[in-house]
Amino acid sequence: MIKNKINFSIIMPTYNRDFCIEKAIDSLLNQTYQNFELIIIDDGSKDNTEELINQKYQKELQNKKIVYKKLNKNQGVCKARNTGLKLAKYDWIGYLDSDNEMLPEFLETFQTEILKNPQNKIFYAKILRSDGSICGRAFNYTSLLQGNYIDMGVFVHNKSLVKKYGKFDTKLKRLVDWDLIIRYTKNNAPIFIEKILLNYNNSDEYERITNCCSCENAKKRIHKKQQKFLQQIFSIKNSYDRRHKVITIFGIKIKIKIKSKKLIARANENFLREIKKKEQENQLLKKFVPKSFLDYVEIHLVEHCNLNCAGCTHFCPLAEEAYLDIETFSKDLNRLADLTNRQVGKIRLMGGEPLLHPELNKFMEKARGFFPNTKISVVTNGILLNKQSQKFWDCCRENDILITISGYPIKLDYDFIKNKAKENNVHLTIPKIQKQSFGTGLWI
Ligand code: SF4
Repeated sequence: MIKNKINFSIIMPTYNRDFCIEKAIDSLLNQTYQNFELIIIDDGSKDNTEELINQKYQKELQNKKIVYKKLNKNQGVCKARNTGLKLAKYDWIGYLDSDNEMLPEFLETFQTEILKNPQNKIFYAKILRSDGSICGRAFNYTSLLQGNYIDMGVFVHNKSLVKKYGKFDTKLKRLVDWDLIIRYTKNNAPIFIEKILLNYNNSDEYERITNCCSCENAKKRIHKKQQKFLQQIFSIKNSYDRRHKVITIFGIKIKIKIKSKKLIARANENFLREIKKKEQENQLLKKFVPKSFLDYVEIHLVEHCNLNCAGCTHFCPLAEEAYLDIETFSKDLNRLADLTNRQVGKIRLMGGEPLLHPELNKFMEKARGFFPNTKISVVTNGILLNKQSQKFWDCCRENDILITISGYPIKLDYDFIKNKAKENNVHLTIPKIQKQSFGTGLWI
């Protein structure tokens, strides 16, 4: 039953965004529909966020239009949003990130749609990204399982779903929005509002929310979760009598009538035959249809190297000192993102020695901006790792960049590097066996 008055609790997690949070907050305060509260969960910001909010929004804090809560340390977006969900006092929940801006009619449009569709518990709309692209299309659960096309910033749901399907999964470090949307929409097909209602900032000037495990792993975890969920719903027990089979759905045992085991066996055979046929067709299809994604891309940021191994296959010992420029890199990545629909499995930023590039951080941010779901790594001989500034480690963590040390037979302070990576929550791989064949450096 929908109440006539629709009230929204809008949850805004934030971390060190004092330079842009005002715009986001004002975009909400300037809505044409005013029945809402804004819950800002400050995820342990070290900048001026707290002072800014206390000074500029004194009135709203007093009349509880804005609720501000600061967590004592940075705990990630899931924890921040979950805290917001706990504090939410209204029935309809929305999410606004502190670098995005709602269009003025955002809440009014959702309110109208909620009143028009009183049975529905979930609604979503389109977003306009700062690079000019638009995201959002009609709902299809199967294609949602392949990849997310619903942005959390335009996803509005009834609070009752939180109790039923859970909050954001704090065990996941990436694709947390997708995971929640999959759970919530499984049995509640959402209404798609064919309007752009949010300006989404995907420019690389802004730091992105902390990610610290690879996207592929996150995808696997999400799919595993879905399987478990299905098993819980349909735990089929093979307890036959002659004419019945007992299945358990949501913990309730149901006895269903079956014709005969022979018939079931025959049906199974047909089913298997069908699957086999489909598999053969797919194999055939794979041969002739070009892939719309790439498995692996290698990009050389620096031509030369500080090691000059005799066995170098990158020609670094022969190369002149040269660095890739960020404009060329952005242009190429932009084209690659267009061609592959941002579906690239792995990108390796390498060289020569990539750590020699004075603007390496910008390249990492740019790559993550264009390929949010790709496993991105910096491949280095490791010599310069102990000289990297804190900014480098922060950049790796915030953009979910993996560091891979190539493993040449050189003396490296591996303990120092491992500790540094660990304390900064950055993923690091070191091969167990060193590449002895690269033995003598030409520089020796
Ligand atoms: S460290 Fe790697 S890139 Fe550098 S010279 Fe040796 S093989 Fe080439």
